[in-house]
This record gives sequence, structure tokens and C-alpha cells, in this order.
Amino acid sequence: MPETLVIALGGNAITRAGEIGTIPQQFEHTAETLSHLLPLFRSDARIAITHGNGPQIGNILIRVEEGERRVPRLPLDTCVSDSQGGMGYMIQRIACELFRRERIRRTAATIITQVLVSEADPDMGHPSKPIGSSYTCAEAQRIRIDKPHWELREIEPGRWRRVVASPHPLEILEEDAIARLLDTGIVAIACGGGGIPVAWEGDRLVGVEGVVDKDLASSLLARNLHADRLIIVTSVDRAAIRYGRPDQCWLDRITVAQATAFLAAGEFPAGSMGPKIEAGIEFVESGGRECIITCTERAAEAVWGQAGTHIVPS
Ligand code: ADP
Ligand code: MG
Repeated sequence: MPETLVIALGGNAITRAGEIGTIPQQFEHTAETLSHLLPLFRSDARIAITHGNGPQIGNILIRVEEGERRVPRLPLDTCVSDSQGGMGYMIQRIACELFRRERIRRTAATIITQVLVSEADPDMGHPSKPIGSSYTCAEAQRIRIDKPHWELREIEPGRWRRVVASPHPLEILEEDAIARLLDTGIVAIACGGGGIPVAWEGDRLVGVEGVVDKDLASSLLARNLHADRLIIVTSVDRAAIRYGRPDQCWLDRITVAQATAFLAAGEFPAGSMGPKIEAGIEFVESGGRECIITCTERAAEAVWGQAGTHIVPS
């Protein structure tokens, strides 16, 4: 039986800190990232790729704000779907080139993915995820009048940003379509930006003004596909305890119980390493073989066990 892999690409796989993040730059980093995954594409593994969309959704929101007087505003769920399409195209184009050059008989296809959340999620009443531009105090005051429904938070002294809810993903509505692509050897690109958050209102599905964490959505996808491994590709080679301190200790292999204890002890902050560890715990606890957290360059090596932090059952 071929292995099933869910590979979650972090921001660093597509954009780099300190760069403008132009489209050519994004294509270039995507090409580098996919080339590091080549040994996996060459294998007979069933592969789904998920990805974040932080910088891209930020830019889309700026376009929405700047264009407000000329074109209709886009709700946040539509912005997420646009980012899935644009980024899916980018990954598909790069994958086409790579597969042709390397004579790999695969194609890649993007599934616009809706992720079901609950309007009753505890996070819905407590928005905490910063999104879009940052504003000065004066700008924030004006926005409070123009957009009373926005929640703004002072992220750093004098720097304000809009915050939205980040509800827990419950169901991936296109799960069957994704599984069928995998059955035929197609690399499925899915759950971009954590998926488009939607909720049932009676018999209507409505878009939710929030964003789903891409690590948690990737974990749900991996569980639904009965994946063998969830590989979370980020900017560090491994997770660490006492991160950034002189006595920092990199982790090679930890059990779910150890991961749970470290998470509870505050070793992995919310919004960065925390959701990755949480995603790994959820995946392994429901039968996944292992969750690997590693950097792009070492992703393939990590699958053969020679790099990364491995979260294992026991
Ligand atoms: P991504 O876009 O891949 O989701 P994030 O920035 O959300 O990336 O998370 C990865 C970052 O988490 C790393 O760049 C690292 O600086 C930070 N980090 C925080 N705590 C830890 C930790 N305990 N071990 C390793 N990295 C950590
Ligand atoms: Mg992140």
C-alpha cells in the first residue's frame, strides 16, 4: 500500500522575510520548495499539499481597502478563496515544469476547499488573529467609525491591526474530491490558507469572517485521509524547548504525551509553533503514524527519519 502524506507548507516556503513578496519572488521560492520535495514526488506516495496564505491574504485585503470606492468589497471568505486559486495556480505551474523536467508521471490540481466551523466556537466571540494592514492610532480611530464591525487590537505600542476569529476546523467539505485525486496519483493542493471557513445556517452555508489555522486544517485533512504522515514544513529544522534561550534543546523525537506536556508548559507559543504541535498531537492521537516538523530543505530527509522533530504515538 503506498503511503499517504499530507505536506503543509508554511509561509517561508513561498515568501521570505525582508522581501517585498512580488509574484516572481513567490514563484521562485515555490520552485525551490517543490524541488526539495522531489524525492517524495518520485516515490509512489499519495500526496496532498496544503499551504498558508498570510502575506497573500494581507495583500488581497489591502487591494480590497484601496478599491472600496470603485468596486464591490469582498468578504473575507471570498478573499481566502481568491488566495487559494492564485496560490494553487502558482504551485500547479511550478509542479508542471518540475514533473516535465524530471519525467515524473504526475499532475497537480487545486481543490478550492471549504472548511466547516461552528458559529458557536469559543473563538468566535474572542477574535485574536491579526490580519491585513497595520494602522497608526489616528488611522485606527477613523476605522472605528467607518467600520464599526471590525475589531482592532494594538499589536505593538502605536501599531493597530484588525483581528478576526480563528475557529477550530470541524469538517473538510471537499474531502472526497481530495481523496479521489490522491487515488489516481494526482498531487492535490487543498486547504489553502487553512480553508475557507463556512458554517451552516439552517440549510444555507454561509462564509464566516474568520480564518482557520492552516496547521489545524492540515491535521484534520491528514486524519480524514487516514494519512501515514503529516509533514509540517516551516522555517526551522526542528521544534525546541526553551526556544531562543542559551539552554535551548532541539527535539528529534517526542511522544504525544511529551508533546502535550511541553505544550501545556508553554514551550510552544500560540500563532507559531503552538498550532503545529497541537496539529501533530491531534493527528497522532487519532491513529497517524507520525507528525514531522521540519524546514523545506530537509523535508524529504525527514521522511526517511534523518531530520526534523518527529511526534510519535509512544
Ligand atoms: P509558518 O508560516 O511555517 O506557519 P510560523 O512563523 O507560524 O511559520 O512558525 C514557525 C516559527 O515558530 C519559527 O520560525 C520559530 O521562530 C518559531 N518558534 C516559536 N517557538 C518555537 C519553538 N519552541 N521551537 C521552534 N520554533 C519556534
Ligand atoms: Mg504559522
